[in-house]
Amino acid sequence: MDILQFQTDLHQWYAHEQRQLPWRETTDPYKIWVSEVMLQQTQVATILRYYPSFLERFPTVEALAQADLTDLLKQWEGMGYYARARNLHKAAKIVVTQYGGHVPADYATFRTLPGVGDYIAAAVQSIAFNQPYAVVDGNVKRVLARLLTLEALANDSQHKVHFQREADRLLDPHRPGNHNQALMELGALVCRPQTPQCLICPVRAHCAAAQSARQMEFPKRKPLRRTPTYHIAVGVVQKADKILITQRKPDGLLGGLWEFPGGKVKKGETAEAACRREIQEETELIVDVQHHLATVKHAYSHFRIKLDVFLCTYRSGEVTLHSPVDFRWVTLDQITDFPFPTANRKFIPQLVAHLTSLTVQSGQ
Ligand code: SF4
Repeated sequence: MDILQFQTDLHQWYAHEQRQLPWRETTDPYKIWVSEVMLQQTQVATILRYYPSFLERFPTVEALAQADLTDLLKQWEGMGYYARARNLHKAAKIVVTQYGGHVPADYATFRTLPGVGDYIAAAVQSIAFNQPYAVVDGNVKRVLARLLTLEALANDSQHKVHFQREADRLLDPHRPGNHNQALMELGALVCRPQTPQCLICPVRAHCAAAQSARQMEFPKRKPLRRTPTYHIAVGVVQKADKILITQRKPDGLLGGLWEFPGGKVKKGETAEAACRREIQEETELIVDVQHHLATVKHAYSHFRIKLDVFLCTYRSGEVTLHSPVDFRWVTLDQITDFPFPTANRKFIPQLVAHLTSLTVQSGQ
């Protein structure tokens, strides 16, 4: 491949065809960092709904460092992969306390911050500081695999080094930020997974897969294992006009988010019995399970859940927490003040409608 010509063709295309995105209109390293953290696992269309309000709420790294975790998670609610938000929060505190509020303009230093892996480090350093580091994300892997007919497996972390080596080799060191964004943009708009637009592709002349009509053979992947499905029982515990919500531990899956108590249904156990048991184990409350409210299905990256939701009434006991770290008795109106996982948010409208109709019927 003529690398210089490839870079020129890519840049010319990007200069004319790039999407106007808010994070491309700033040179503020903090704002670019936020965008890259969001972009890592979320679609651009979704980020466009979150990015402006997030920056309005936390316009500077100092504002983010001072944020209350619940406030931060509320802003992030619905984007998923909440560890990203928690790590960004921790990293912002370090930037303020150790680097005077300046995002480190040095790859090695920046790479030590929580949540900053190879991708974020290369993206922020190249885009914000013009440092010559090549990004490798899913789009880049696909484009490289097709351009160079790479045999490396795109979904095998041990093969990432092969993609990184090729990305480094093709990187334009004079304009690395634009180069990285152009390659990712090409993957998003032209070299799409199922429908590569080779006829209009600006780098077709350099593409080994297109020239041998083997676009759909790349990238190579190892077969995926089947994702397990877990059956979860959840209880909405009512006590007078309040309902109980609990907060998950700050770290781990969905850390810091609020939810209704519950947990996995054991083998041979009914969902209703699991609901009662889990509430008792997590809070020491004794409840009566009244009726089934909803069944919700949700897919995470490595597993799926089927959630059976029950309405329960408080019978006895004082809340003593075992797994959760905090709890509140809240009214229906207050629920939206708290960040919930998507699987919970899927049934909250149904819960609110149901409890509101009961309130109307009872004339309260
Ligand atoms: Fe992808 Fe086709 Fe362009 Fe090759 S020519 S990079 S396969 S869109």
